[in-house]
Amino acid sequence: MEIKTLISEEELKVRIAQMAQEINGFYAGQELYVIVALKGAVIFAADLVRHLNMPVRMEFIRLSSYGNDKVSSGKVNAVDISLPNLNGKNVLIVEDIIDTGLTAKFLLDFIALNFKTKSTKFCSLLDKKSARKVDVEADYYGFEVDNKFVIGFGLDYEGHYRNLPYIGHVS
Ligand code: 5GP
Repeated sequence: MEIKTLISEEELKVRIAQMAQEINGFYAGQELYVIVALKGAVIFAADLVRHLNMPVRMEFIRLSSYGNDKVSSGKVNAVDISLPNLNGKNVLIVEDIIDTGLTAKFLLDFIALNFKTKSTKFCSLLDKKSARKVDVEADYYGFEVDNKFVIGFGLDYEGHYRNLPYIGHVS
């Protein structure tokens, strides 16, 4: 399988630090709950939170929308979505990529339905804007990518390649 580099390790590093600065500016001095969507967002979130300078708490949830192939199944499964009480809290959901938008919408609806947060925002490393099926936008995103299947930096292909230090495209 040939992997073409789309976003280099250095570009990711620079952009993630910039995103964190924006986030630091918005929440200055306030506590932030970072909700990480496993498994794909784990690498991005690990880098991002290390640049955040407000008090941070991290929670992890697990969802799945992809089957074993490269196509979205069209529905979101909540594998584990247990969260503490987020009433009155600043919540930042951290994802690897927004594709159809179904996962982002599911998560935002889930938070809105269950909690009265102080604020809820969505942060995604990648955004496949042209693949949207539902109307949802990230408050923060790192890079827009074409409607192609990408891997690396947390994103997998059949469970592999999450450890690549760059974002690549499988041809
Ligand atoms: P959505 O619900 O927006 O269609 O998809 C969100 C989830 O699908 C992401 O969190 C990610 O796990 C997976 N996904 C979407 N596009 C890609 C892609 O290009 N590559 C990989 N590896 N996963 C993707």
